[in-house]
Amino acid sequence: MYKHQPDYRAAVSNSQQAIFDQGTSVGKLAEQLFPGGVDARPVDTYSYQQSVVDTFNYVQAGQKVIYEAAFQYDQVLAALDILVQKRGKWHAFEVKSSTSVKDTFLQDAALQYYVITQAGLPLVDFSIVYINNEYERYGDLDIAQLFTIESVLDQILEMQPQIAAKIPQLKAVLKQKKVPEQAIGPHCSDPYACDFTDHCWQHLPEDSVFDLRGHSAGAKSFELYEQGIYRLIDIPDDYPLNGGQLLQVQCHKTGEPHINQEALNDFLAQLEYPLYFMDFETYQVAVPEWDGARPYQQFPFQYSVHRQDSPGGPLTHFEWLAQSGTDPRKDFLANLLSAMGTTGTILAYNSSFENSRLNDLAYWFPRKAKAIEALQERMVDLMSPFRSKHYYLPAMKGSYSIKQVLPALVPNMNYDQLAIGNGGDASTAFYQLQFEKDASVVEQTREALLRYCAMDTEAMVRVLEKLNT
Ligand code: SF4
Repeated sequence: MYKHQPDYRAAVSNSQQAIFDQGTSVGKLAEQLFPGGVDARPVDTYSYQQSVVDTFNYVQAGQKVIYEAAFQYDQVLAALDILVQKRGKWHAFEVKSSTSVKDTFLQDAALQYYVITQAGLPLVDFSIVYINNEYERYGDLDIAQLFTIESVLDQILEMQPQIAAKIPQLKAVLKQKKVPEQAIGPHCSDPYACDFTDHCWQHLPEDSVFDLRGHSAGAKSFELYEQGIYRLIDIPDDYPLNGGQLLQVQCHKTGEPHINQEALNDFLAQLEYPLYFMDFETYQVAVPEWDGARPYQQFPFQYSVHRQDSPGGPLTHFEWLAQSGTDPRKDFLANLLSAMGTTGTILAYNSSFENSRLNDLAYWFPRKAKAIEALQERMVDLMSPFRSKHYYLPAMKGSYSIKQVLPALVPNMNYDQLAIGNGGDASTAFYQLQFEKDASVVEQTREALLRYCAMDTEAMVRVLEKLNT
């Protein structure tokens, strides 16, 4: 597809680009584990031949540390993050911004090992360098603590015969005049989402079997698809589905809602006014920025709260948004505590997320732990009637996400009209603000962030209104 039909490739989203950029900066940081090296990275992706030549020359010249070393053997190119010579022996290090060694890393490493050694450079070890998510930062960044180095030599040595056998097969595919015939399958998203799914999956109808949700839904969807059953409506009544899936398919076939009024009444009866509808936005980065922070820890940078003092009464709105590039925690917590009062139910959608952020804040600010705990005791999860399918509409398409529940319950309200319409984009936009020089872009982005978060809590107000009718 990349060779013959590159136009069908999906554009890289802002969130994906942010992940790639993070990978690049983690790679640069890991070079500090082996300081003083020479850089063989290419000026652009078309210049790897020069990198191969530069790497060869650096090795010949007796360089001890080479970053982005490139090798080529039998028309296969491999670039390696860090190549180190210790006591005359070569050690390879490949850096990943992940927090564990994944199978895909081993496949990459096995190919790198194959190309490097076949190209003539013997390696005595090959390690994956990845993020240690137990590291808690205090003061300056401790690079040695931030990374874990794990040798994968034994695993990749075992894989060498497979690599040698696979290369001619893959070359044969590349030589074909057109794209090989390949049906859609779990390989479209595992181990990574493919860039061509928009193209390959476009033949599926609306309300397809891939809308099935719940346990093993993916496997069941493919099983049905392979039997020629493409639409939810065509799923045979005797096909084995779990309770939630059965409900989803039945409601879809009949077009009828499913409401367990008794369970819903129990849920509503526990709510005490004033109600607070609360939502946090967070970002996470591989390299902890502030004292007490760990890699990839969720950092709350924004909240929105709508307060309603009586059923159907007017709303009061509270919100707070940090300055990007500053430690948000203290001000976030102080502002939040001042907005939440001391009585009344606090509703969050998927409240375990907000609850975990409050736990983190209590850890960072132990003197506020009691006040935080008091908030947590008042919290109720607005998602629970939807997750437990006590209230289900066919338009929810088996999902209990607010993004699906809201338009199903309140059709004139959805996130499509917003400049920032999901949590991932909000995180990326906020984090990138610290690098933005254009004041008007900063202002527009902050406005978009405020509107997005406010929409989340207003959505919760409207959803509860619906549950009450
Ligand atoms: S979407 Fe699936 S079938 Fe299409 S190219 Fe990607 S992996 Fe292959």
